[in-house]
Amino acid sequence: MDLLDINDRPGAYPPSFYAHAATPLPRFPAADGDISCDVAVVGGGFTGLSTAWHLARRGYDVALLEASRVGFGASGRNGGQVGQGQRVEQDELEAMVGRDHARALWDIANQSVDLVREIAARDEVHATFHPGIIHAAHRARDVPGYAAYARKLRDDYGYDRIRALDREELRALVTSPAYHGGTLDTGAGHIDPLELALGLARLATGAGARIFESSRVLRIDAGDPARLITEDAQVTARHVVLGCNGYLGRLVPRVAARVMPINNYVVATEPLGRARQAEIIRHNHAVADSKFVVNYFRFSDDHRLLFGGTESYRYRFPRDIAGAVRRPLEEVFPQLEGVPITHAWGGTLGITMNRMPHFERIAGNILSLSGYSGHGVAMATLAGQIAAETIAGQAERFDVMASVPTPRFPGGATLRWPLLVLAMAWYSLRDRL
Ligand SMILES: Cc1cc2nc3c(=O)[nH]c(=O)nc-3n(C[C@H](O)[C@H](O)[C@H](O)COP(=O)(O)OP(=O)(O)OC[C@H]3O[C@@H](n4cnc5c(N)ncnc54)[C@H](O)[C@@H]3O)c2cc1C
Repeated sequence: MDLLDINDRPGAYPPSFYAHAATPLPRFPAADGDISCDVAVVGGGFTGLSTAWHLARRGYDVALLEASRVGFGASGRNGGQVGQGQRVEQDELEAMVGRDHARALWDIANQSVDLVREIAARDEVHATFHPGIIHAAHRARDVPGYAAYARKLRDDYGYDRIRALDREELRALVTSPAYHGGTLDTGAGHIDPLELALGLARLATGAGARIFESSRVLRIDAGDPARLITEDAQVTARHVVLGCNGYLGRLVPRVAARVMPINNYVVATEPLGRARQAEIIRHNHAVADSKFVVNYFRFSDDHRLLFGGTESYRYRFPRDIAGAVRRPLEEVFPQLEGVPITHAWGGTLGITMNRMPHFERIAGNILSLSGYSGHGVAMATLAGQIAAETIAGQAERFDVMASVPTPRFPGGATLRWPLLVLAMAWYSLRDRL
């Protein structure tokens, strides 16, 4: 079953608050006839749009093929948290790949947040980068570990923008009885993700890239040049970059065996007003908690609480997304019981077994970058810059990312889903115990 088809209307944005608030770009044409280019980019999320922009700036002739609309996928629907570091914490990374490699991965992660901050400052992007993410511990016994990690980042990585919060400090910043302490990271932040994606599309076309929407790639014939087939076009390209993440389907089975789609859900409340916002989250920080099925939330610029969480392990979105997300929202903020929810939507992301991104050369001239495991706002945006420099002959950062091994899911692309359901059900049960 293909996630591009089952939960969304073809060629339309989901009913998200972001799509409601953004001024969408005029529709780009569908690819038609014979097209040739230096680089064909598949997917119009952060990965693909950033690749197209960075390549076009370097003078490459780029054609981006998007099955639906730009920012239609996870990039236009996510929690907007621009997290610092890799998805996997540094001590775990050091154990996984050694200290030097872990250090290089940390530096790359830092560059990803800097890149989003720089892009957000451009006129083409109609979104503001708001600094600060709070990581909140839902169990008192986890609080010392949070403080120790902040110390480690300061002592071993020279990162001084994170500090530990005890229970009182945390509750002064986030008025919730659910949390016992945590950290505040002012190097991280949050942003409207659809506006970021639309801004990247403006930057890409401004630099000369051609974007095609409603242009799903049905087949890729490897070779030099490679050939990509859509319903109405045949695209010939010297290089191909795949940025399909959770929506890849079976286009490239090798990648599908390592990057698993998983759904996650977000709601927006009615605008709560500036004063009520400050009663709930004092300084407009974003928050992510320590549950295995993470709750994450922040305020929109018009003072709505945007609250996300509630994974479900079925392909199809639940009928009542608002009802499903309301439960954790009201557990975290009992004072918002019964708050009107105006928008509720789902999206699909790509996760890997070890939660590190999966960068791979599928062939000499075909790159795939995906599997950000819920940590892709910054990393997927940087992935585009890395793909562009790799094609231009500077592959150092690509190789640092690609040399973290990505295990196949047990069962590969066919049987992975039932196994994941079992594993996830166990972990989310553990959250509740
Ligand atoms: C609900 C939700 C909340 C999240 N919250 C956060 C968060 O707060 N912070 C964070 O860092 N990350 C978060 N993420 C993850 C983040 O959104 C993703 O890691 C990131 O957007 C991935 O970008 P991408 O460009 O690789 O993929 P996508 O944005 O998913 O783009 C892939 C695109 O490829 C297109 N496509 C697929 N197949 C084809 C084909 N055959 N032909 C043409 N086009 C094709 C799709 O239509 C889609 O537009 C969240 C994800 C979800 C779903």
